[in-house]
Amino acid sequence: MEPIVMVDLKKQYQKIKHEIDQSIQDIINQATFINGKAVTEFSNALSSYLDIPFVIPCANGTDALQVAMMALNLKPGDEIIVPSFTFIATAEAIALLKLTPIFVEIDPDTFCIKPETIEPAITQKTKAIIPVHLYGQTANMEAILKIATKHHLFVIEDCAQSLGSVYSFDDGKKIKAGTIGHIGCTSFFPSKNLGCFGDGGALFTHDQSLAERIKMIVNHGQSQRYYHDLVGCNSRLDSIQAAVLTVKLQYLDAYNIKRQEVAHSYTKAFKDCHALITPYTAPYCTHVYHQYTLKTQTVERDKLVAHLASRGVPAMIYYPVPAHKQKMFTEYNIVPAHLPITDRICKEVFSLPMHTELDSVQIDYIIQTVLDFCK
Ligand SMILES: *Cc1c(COP(=O)(O)O)cnc(C)c1O
Repeated sequence: MEPIVMVDLKKQYQKIKHEIDQSIQDIINQATFINGKAVTEFSNALSSYLDIPFVIPCANGTDALQVAMMALNLKPGDEIIVPSFTFIATAEAIALLKLTPIFVEIDPDTFCIKPETIEPAITQKTKAIIPVHLYGQTANMEAILKIATKHHLFVIEDCAQSLGSVYSFDDGKKIKAGTIGHIGCTSFFPSKNLGCFGDGGALFTHDQSLAERIKMIVNHGQSQRYYHDLVGCNSRLDSIQAAVLTVKLQYLDAYNIKRQEVAHSYTKAFKDCHALITPYTAPYCTHVYHQYTLKTQTVERDKLVAHLASRGVPAMIYYPVPAHKQKMFTEYNIVPAHLPITDRICKEVFSLPMHTELDSVQIDYIIQTVLDFCK
């Protein structure tokens, strides 16, 4: 058996090496490394994949979140409702702009923001909600949009972990994660479902004037060369990354199906194991398994993870400390949050290897190693 890794990017690359190498070589030959034709080609390809008119690439997913809040003209002191159970970037971008994160609970089954906790957190200062589509499934957007419309709030989707997930509205309308709220933000960090060979990110919107602001903000607030209308930043996607992404975007659906197949094998094996709770997929969306994350019931999570590591099965804890308990916020003026579900979930979750190159021998070995500990 080949050694098991959390994410196998080497093997994934080997299968499309020819196409990727050619696309990178083309950029080097053209020597247009920033804002070249390749970047436009990629935004067009992603815009048709997502069925949204405006896709603005940027340097990484954290910048995408920051730029989204800048584009919406959010000001210091404005409150942003966000789940505490997320990768830190979501909360960090809020704090960096001197906005106030208001941390709320997640649904313990989906790991996404719990809509019922949003309304009680709304004040005069609330300006936006940032649902995070964690681990690969979409938050309950219909409920979130209802609240946002009622209270005139912006919705910024963090879909760094869920590119390709499809959301279904009650009336049957289907729409991709990241294209439901006012702005969607994603990351092309190498290990994401659509990853490049370095850092990368993008914002999506249906709104033309917002798209124009975003385009300016990611490029020094520039409307035409050397005319700067807004305070922006330097957050662009390299042409080489764009070229890699255009190739890999063609495989995204196949990659997500492969992830679903791995998840299906895991769930089939673990569903009757009382020590564990397998991931739940809400009826309103598809799950693209950025992570396959279980909860421990009757076994000690950390002992299980150590057992797996000692037998060559890497497992990770996403995330051991929720945002509202991070040291970075002790000196930051955050509203103290009491989030017992989030605190409990941080102690129960662990994620198994999940990538497009896992073979059945490796999957069986991982399953057996988990079950050996739980029996
Ligand atoms: C990866 C990630 C980000 C940040 O993306 P970077 O490209 O690493 O800056 C933001 N939010 C979530 C939920 C993520 O998983």
